[in-house]
Amino acid sequence: MPLTSYNPATGEAIGEIPITSVKEINQQVQTAKDSLAKWREYSLSQRAECLKKAGQALVDGAEFFGDILSQEVGKPLKSGIGEVNSCGQNMANKVDTLLAALQPVVHRAEHVETTVTYEPAGVVAVISPWNFPMSMPQWMVIPALMAGNCVILKPSEETPLTAQHYVDTLNRFLPDGVLQIAQGGDEQGKALVSEDINLLVFTGSRAVGVDIMQANAYRLLPMILELGGKDPLIVMADADIEQAAQFAVNNSVENAGQMCIATERVFIHEDIADTFEQRVTEIAAEIKVGPWNEKDVQMGPMINVNQKKRVVQQINDALKQGATMLSGEAELPGAYLAPTVLTGVAHDMAIASEETFGPVVSITRYRDIRDAVRQANDTPYGLGAVVFGGDKETTEAVASQLDAGMIGINKSIFGVGDTPWVGAKQSGYGYHGSPDGARQFAQARVTSRVLR
Ligand code: NAD
Repeated sequence: MPLTSYNPATGEAIGEIPITSVKEINQQVQTAKDSLAKWREYSLSQRAECLKKAGQALVDGAEFFGDILSQEVGKPLKSGIGEVNSCGQNMANKVDTLLAALQPVVHRAEHVETTVTYEPAGVVAVISPWNFPMSMPQWMVIPALMAGNCVILKPSEETPLTAQHYVDTLNRFLPDGVLQIAQGGDEQGKALVSEDINLLVFTGSRAVGVDIMQANAYRLLPMILELGGKDPLIVMADADIEQAAQFAVNNSVENAGQMCIATERVFIHEDIADTFEQRVTEIAAEIKVGPWNEKDVQMGPMINVNQKKRVVQQINDALKQGATMLSGEAELPGAYLAPTVLTGVAHDMAIASEETFGPVVSITRYRDIRDAVRQANDTPYGLGAVVFGGDKETTEAVASQLDAGMIGINKSIFGVGDTPWVGAKQSGYGYHGSPDGARQFAQARVTSRVLR
């Protein structure tokens, strides 16, 4: 039976792809094992050359495949084309930094020389989510390939067409068997993980991450897990209100709020709360919601009706428990949900503790900054956290108390340069980005010899 891909803006099918059977997945793992020696013979520079050519091919096809990507996820066409372009354009930089990180390191003391080399781990299974259907595979597949591994990608069942294009494009420049794709849902994910693989790289929900770790603890399967978040934004009393309000809305509703590092909780000092909430409401109301191909659309529908229902349920529960809706309307058709602004959100509401993954600005007022920090940290998640403040020293001091892997001060959490993409607490286990991250896709080997 084929896997059908639907456009969440229209509800219509946009394409079909065969599901990979469990037996075929077993054969893929065998093919990957058989291809390891061949791929290992390629030097790091040769691997980099193959991938750079693939990067250019992604750029060349950006308009066409950006349209497919946008139709699968529902995001505006500009964002879809932008995602494909950024994967293609960043490829050269990315592989050059991986190439540098994976070079051998030599140590010498008296008459002994020790070399640390970064060898292929072997067969790597990559499992990806749907929210950035090309970037998420790319972030995991490229470091795995550069380290000399053979890779099987199991993309989300929501976005099979984008993933297929991605793999087909890379495969125009890679030897056979080095990169394969297993299409399907959780059955295919489970089947792949249960195979004789050497490393699992997973990006997705915390719940599935826990399942995978539990199921594979008995064999100590090495894994890198990039999981969900519940990122807080703390706005201090002396913050630039306009900048903080713009950030709060944009980072809560970007990609219809379906981002692991979306702002999920806003803590606003009560002295500036009225003005802040008014601006947030105005900015949210101006966002143009519509289908991927309509001019000037800023936000599309959610990935599907079920995901919308989950978010609407959280909103309705919060309203029942005393929160106030400042802007939004849940009754849009299909998978559409308007940017929604809630205030009076209390710490024990589901919307304040469970990952929302929808376009909601969820506001809690505070008087004492210690309360805001305590609530911000009172979650099993620890992906990102942002603080906006005027006084540099006190803002830095608050930022230093936030339990998260990536912190933004008066800006988003995105770092410059080759820095890790890393979650703290239950948002991550291992990471990628940076030389340390690159080396997690390889097996370190230490060889010591006597120098004569
Ligand atoms: P999900 O966990 O439902 O699914 C992710 C992938 O795992 C899919 O390909 C799915 O088919 C597969 N899968 C499901 N059950 C499985 C199982 N038991 N064994 C093996 N594979 C299985 O997540 P999603 O809904 O696709 O994506 C949204 C989640 O991803 C959110 O929690 C979000 O925060 C997270 N995310 C995290 C990052 C990050 O960098 N930390 C980035 C993007 C998304």
